Amino acid sequence: MRVWFWGFGDGGGLGQSVLNHPFPRSDGRLVCGAVLLGDLAADFGTPLYVYDLESIRSRVEGFRDAFDAAEPLIAYSVKANANLTLLRELAAHGCGADITSGGELFRARSAGISNEMIVFAGVGKSEEEIEFALDEDIYAFNVESRSELERIEGIAQRMGLSARIGVRVNPNVLASTPHEYTATGHSDTKFGVPWEEARALYRWALERDSLDPIGIDVHIGSQIVEIEPYVLALDRVLGVVKDLVAEGVPLKYLDIGGGFGINYGQGSGLDIGALAEEIVPRVLDSGLRLILEPGRSLVAEAGVFVTEVQYVKNCGQKTFVIVDGGMSELIRPSHYGGYHQIEPVGPIDGRAEAVVDVVGPICETGDFLALDRSMPLPMEGELLAVRTAGAYGFTMASNYNGRPRPAEVLVDGIDVRLVRRRETYEDLISGEV
Ligand SMILES: *Cc1c(COP(=O)(O)O)cnc(C)c1O
Repeated sequence: MRVWFWGFGDGGGLGQSVLNHPFPRSDGRLVCGAVLLGDLAADFGTPLYVYDLESIRSRVEGFRDAFDAAEPLIAYSVKANANLTLLRELAAHGCGADITSGGELFRARSAGISNEMIVFAGVGKSEEEIEFALDEDIYAFNVESRSELERIEGIAQRMGLSARIGVRVNPNVLASTPHEYTATGHSDTKFGVPWEEARALYRWALERDSLDPIGIDVHIGSQIVEIEPYVLALDRVLGVVKDLVAEGVPLKYLDIGGGFGINYGQGSGLDIGALAEEIVPRVLDSGLRLILEPGRSLVAEAGVFVTEVQYVKNCGQKTFVIVDGGMSELIRPSHYGGYHQIEPVGPIDGRAEAVVDVVGPICETGDFLALDRSMPLPMEGELLAVRTAGAYGFTMASNYNGRPRPAEVLVDGIDVRLVRRRETYEDLISGEV
């Protein structure tokens, strides 16, 4: 492995730019930490996910600094990127976990995330998952319906335990998200419980020995870049908190969820510092413990998806760049119109720009990474980097079309770790009996 020694030759600016913009260019080639992306692709093959640990660390520190005065629990949303090594690194940097399933609980615990730093969201928690979470003594369930609360109560009673719960309230705030599928905080979505019902649930829980209603939770959507919806939702929640405390509900935590938007290369991300300035005083005033559930905002920008151009095909007016990674590895573009910058891993030189569709090899018209994209015309056999792929990339990957899932590599300066090996054909059939 050749190592790219950054930090000289350009006025020492690269060290800083690595923090702010992972995967800068040096001598025309994309680098990750101190390593050339092209070398990683040569060593581990394509398609390939590469994560830059330094940039994840700096995002965690950024959250911690901004919300410092409130000493929040940063419950990383595991579904964004569930790689065990990555979870272990986040745990080492003081993060807890926001989980949505028993499988994510298993991952979080396997990665050493401590039980009292885990919160469990999701509308469809099964008996088995609830039992597992009670066994693990997680910090709290964020409950999404009356039936779920009754189910948790029944199981906790049978196990002779008291389950700590918060109700996920639906604040009926319509935050602007890039796609309707990523909005969760208005009354037409399946998430959360309306105000009046939430109040009734707390009253009901107060009377049960096997329920301990200690929190309140809200999560209004994903990829939100404005502060106002958060403040609006929080102010609505705080209004209810007052009433609940007056009724004797022993609230301890206030979970404002995640969804903090990042910059995918079009426009700008959410200003975390400015958000914290609004949130922190309100939370301090409430006396409750703040929980944040960032997912995407900690890991998205720290990841690239590297794929190799197989063919460049001209069909009439259209040019298709057919690459070896598609919707089975990175489904965001075809699932909800997710935008990712795509560029050559190697030098661009003075190449002409062309308008192309970057498509995968899967037998679906909806299999694409970019449509009508203006970019330096790719060449057959060259590598492309799909940026901002650290979140909802690998976790949404599938074996569709008989495709083994890609390898994942974690880079920390000069340190390169294969953190998940590429699947083999044998892996594809190993579970079948
Ligand atoms: C998905 C999810 C998050 C994280 O969302 P991001 O957009 O990745 O920050 C946080 N909380 C809950 C309940 C979620 O479902």
